[in-house]
Amino acid sequence: EPVEVDKIVAEVLDRTKTPGTAKSIDVVARGPRGLTVYGSENQLVTAVVNLVENAIAYSPESTTVTIATSRSAAETGTDAGHIEIAVTDQGIGIEPRDIDRIFERFYRADRARSRATGGTGLGLAIVKHIATNHGGQVDVVSTVGVGSTFTLRLPARPTEAAMALPPSVEIGGTP
Ligand code: ATP
Ligand code: MG
Repeated sequence: EPVEVDKIVAEVLDRTKTPGTAKSIDVVARGPRGLTVYGSENQLVTAVVNLVENAIAYSPESTTVTIATSRSAAETGTDAGHIEIAVTDQGIGIEPRDIDRIFERFYRADRARSRATGGTGLGLAIVKHIATNHGGQVDVVSTVGVGSTFTLRLPARPTEAAMALPPSVEIGGTP
């Protein structure tokens, strides 16, 4: 299924601006309109929501979280290029020794701080699973005390894996 990136971003902004996130952190989006990715809108929204929720959870008050969307140029004749959705924060950052492990289920970097935020350590494992499902990947660049950027990279053309995914799954609500 084709999925509009604008729609993903709008949904993510909506879901992360709820009163539940009482922190005074601005979430802003930038990038060209009209980008399209392929796969499950629900899953892609879930992935980006997880990244933005992390960005908020691991940042101090009065900082900004940016969702930047872009399309990379095709590198070869057979590579149609990628759509990138990058979530950047001005948060605590991640130690180099933790960076290879944060995508593992239940792995959390700073135990004391992690406990205070009350998570389970599944968010990034889910993001990675969704990225892989779509024929894409997720990676991170981070500097302790400066911030982190998590980039979701998705094929700019439909792949078999992405097209086989259900467009959306309704869980309750009105049909
Ligand atoms: P959950 O998402 O299940 O509620 P969690 O946020 O701890 O819990 P993940 O989202 O998988 O789990 O993240 C794993 C760990 O990676 C976090 O505990 C944290 O230590 C680190 N981490 C993730 N995102 C960031 C970020 N934006 N800045 C700093 N550390 C991060
Ligand atoms: Mg998380």
